[in-house]
Amino acid sequence: MIPFSPPHIDKKVIDAVIEVLESGWITTGPKTKLFEKKLSEYTGAQSTLCLNSATAGLEIILRWFGVKEGDEVIVPSYTYAATANVVIHCGATPVFVDTDDDFNCSVEAIERAITNKTKVIMPVDFAGYPCDYDAINSLVQRSDIAKMFSPDSLPQKMLGRVLILADAAHSIGAIYKGKKAGSLTDISVFSFHAVKNLTTAEGGAVALNLPAPFDNEEVYKSLCITTLHGQNKDALAKMQKGNWRYDIIEAGYKCNLTDIMAAIGLVELERYETETLPKRKMVMDLYAKKLLQYDWAQIPEYNTESRTGSFHLFPLRIKNITEDTRDKIIHEIFEKDVSVNVHFIPVPMMSFYKNRGYNIANYPTTYDNYSREISLPVFVDLTEEQINTVLNAVITSVEMFVRS
Ligand SMILES: *Cc1c(COP(=O)(O)O)cnc(C)c1O
Repeated sequence: MIPFSPPHIDKKVIDAVIEVLESGWITTGPKTKLFEKKLSEYTGAQSTLCLNSATAGLEIILRWFGVKEGDEVIVPSYTYAATANVVIHCGATPVFVDTDDDFNCSVEAIERAITNKTKVIMPVDFAGYPCDYDAINSLVQRSDIAKMFSPDSLPQKMLGRVLILADAAHSIGAIYKGKKAGSLTDISVFSFHAVKNLTTAEGGAVALNLPAPFDNEEVYKSLCITTLHGQNKDALAKMQKGNWRYDIIEAGYKCNLTDIMAAIGLVELERYETETLPKRKMVMDLYAKKLLQYDWAQIPEYNTESRTGSFHLFPLRIKNITEDTRDKIIHEIFEKDVSVNVHFIPVPMMSFYKNRGYNIANYPTTYDNYSREISLPVFVDLTEEQINTVLNAVITSVEMFVRS
């Protein structure tokens, strides 16, 4: 069976973990701080905070910005549920928008969805392909839209407009007009979950890029406290000689990254640009080159003049098929011992959201993209022989239902 996206765990990763285990310091400490620094250098973000998941990062930022009951947060209808769940956690209302042909949220749909209750927009870089950040950033700064914004919290007053919080769970390393994900908008959140491009098993990072008058280093420091019980000293600081006394200055959360995870991340980041991305690109180029020969295949955009994705997913679409036929094709592909996936079942189709009155019929492009979508395996250890096996399985399975 060819798996979908196993992690690349080799001796380098294992040795790095052993080194931390033997060091006597296993929770948040020097490795995490170093990983944060290297992430800022890599992405161009002003400051980076690591934590134990992207989901925690998204929620922490919504809470830091003061998002609460009665507020609206604009979320693509085509994403993983975490993007919307965190809005619910804060008591606010997710306002879903339709997507475009490139799977990313439609900027026109975002514009139509903005009201005087909108506090945050959460674009998702689907499959690692960056959204049109120039359009999104300038939209919230446009005077008629900025005038609608009604700030409540101090950060809202300081920003004076809707916050852009990018769900960049897929897109570390992606480039938009020469700039890397993490430096493309106010705040971006990466995921280092086991299936993501750069993994720490579980983990995430918040890349801060807030405009003046914010001091991103100050925001970083306050978020460190929020993510560690609201304690004014972290474990390492408390370890310093005689420095035992601490205070709790807010009812904080517990979502810090451990040094064991950061050690994995440091190895992953070190080889990300030179090994991981080129390998993933090679896999996607081979898929694209072969599938372009078939009329029924719709190849995803992943490398264009203004945007280079992170090659996280290869979301193939089959032209003119129903959801039911797509499901049957997937069944046939699995019969040939190849794992594929669907990214994603749109959030408005999930029971919790359906029960709240959301209806997929309001997001026709999202449904169309979803109903014809099959994600092919992309991972570092995929061999050329396996790539051919995947392609043969996909082509013969599709052609059982679709004529070429
Ligand atoms: C994986 C994923 C998340 C959640 O990341 P975690 O690190 O598992 O919390 C959020 N959004 C999208 C689009 C994802 O794919």
